[in-house]
Amino acid sequence: MSAFLSKRHGMFINGDWTDSSADETIAVIDPATEEVIATVQAGGEAEVDRAVRAARAAFDNGPWPNMAPIDRMMIMLRLADVIEAAADEIAFLETIDNGMPMWLSTGAAAKAVLHLRHFAGICGRLGGQVHNVTQPDIHAYSIKEPVGVVGAITPWNFPFVMAVAKMAQALAAGCTVVLKPSEITPLSALRLGELIQQAGFPDGVVNIIVGYGRDAGKALVEHLLVDKISFTGSTATGKWIVQAAAGNLKRVTLELGGKSPTIVFPDADVERAVPGAAMAVFANSGQVCVAGSRLFIHRKIFDKMVDGISAFAANLKVGSGLDADSQIGPLVSRDQLDRVSGFIESGINEGAHVVHGGKRVGDAGYFVQPTVVAETHGDMRIIKEEIFGPVVAAIPFDDDDLDQIAARANDTNYGLAAYIWSSDASKIHKLARKLRAGLIQVNGGTALDPALPFGGFKESGWGREYGAEGVEAYMETKSVAIQL
Ligand code: NAD
Repeated sequence: MSAFLSKRHGMFINGDWTDSSADETIAVIDPATEEVIATVQAGGEAEVDRAVRAARAAFDNGPWPNMAPIDRMMIMLRLADVIEAAADEIAFLETIDNGMPMWLSTGAAAKAVLHLRHFAGICGRLGGQVHNVTQPDIHAYSIKEPVGVVGAITPWNFPFVMAVAKMAQALAAGCTVVLKPSEITPLSALRLGELIQQAGFPDGVVNIIVGYGRDAGKALVEHLLVDKISFTGSTATGKWIVQAAAGNLKRVTLELGGKSPTIVFPDADVERAVPGAAMAVFANSGQVCVAGSRLFIHRKIFDKMVDGISAFAANLKVGSGLDADSQIGPLVSRDQLDRVSGFIESGINEGAHVVHGGKRVGDAGYFVQPTVVAETHGDMRIIKEEIFGPVVAAIPFDDDDLDQIAARANDTNYGLAAYIWSSDASKIHKLARKLRAGLIQVNGGTALDPALPFGGFKESGWGREYGAEGVEAYMETKSVAIQL
């Protein structure tokens, strides 16, 4: 492993590793120790241009979009196999780069394999449709074709599985890809490049450029030879991308931030709701787009739930992700530590009461206590903005009117996910319809699954990933009409 870390980490372009033309490098920091664990080159406009041209050639002249679907499928399955064989190493890299505990990075590596296998299986099922047009002497059908060169831009919170899942959908559709992982967590994507070589992908089908958002990311979004940007990251960057993509009206899908509500009714199984609601916001130190950060609890069980979640938080083992018994690792960076601490402070200044936590843990590494706050109101920054940290606001509700409850839950610019805890099936279904969010989870944790469409309402994004819609987002529809 130390051999990989100390390698010269360049760019993966057209099936080969190459140095960046820029002098700039990025120091990769282990957030549990604050030590530099690797140095990687930062690519810029020139590297992005070379990568896009390689992807363009692999799309326009290369084998990938024209390959028999079953052959595409076989290569993707081979990549799944080599990733599976390297899963322990990938999980380790992810943990020292992002900080997440090994239980989470191991699960995420397995999920990446699952995504690849699922979407590989779709390759052979991408068909078309015959249309009964209004003119009887016309035989008309439509077919799906890959959109072209995809710029895939990913965040740092689940670096490996996000990159693989995006890539898997684009590749299944027949697209070629330029991946730009987050500059904060580039290691697993660089290892992915090696595994892509090992799996035997044709040159240029996948290219990987590590670099800063403002340089490499910007160049990819603005590049006129890119047909689509698939972006996962913050809403602020997503809004910028929408404007920057206008040059050639490239297609854009956006998976952005969230401020998801968890709603707990008095008829819920509180024994299960306590750990469920807690881990919906504390897992990965709250650095999860679907984190249930606004916890609405019926007054009848408010104290019981808050006491339960606070006790659960107090028992969570916070520590280095490499320690087998750590349940919560550090935040990803010094910036993220400052940001989360700033949110907690602003909540306190605005009158919120910290029921549990609120403090940094230790003085080396970016650890923060899982934190429960109460006595908040809707205008506070901690209620309105995405914190992306292990902080949950407990908010009581009194009435049983589902419209009122939904109105409070929907009172946010975001609309990514929502959680309901109840044993009343009718109430659950009624409320699920009223909530303005792309993923409603009932009586359980995160159901992110390659077969289930996922994405946001409102400022949480554009379009859907996963499921049939996820692959369709990488395709154009072409209609053919034949005069008989
Ligand atoms: P970010 O927007 O800062 O960065 C995401 C990626 O965009 C990085 O690769 C970054 O280098 C790149 N980037 C930054 N500026 C860019 C620019 N001008 N042009 C092109 N690329 C640019 O987000 P982050 O801090 O890495 O990730 C956290 C955010 O991601 C949170 O808001 C979280 O909710 C969101 N997220 C959403 C989902 C989802 O599926 N909806 C999943 C994970 C994370």
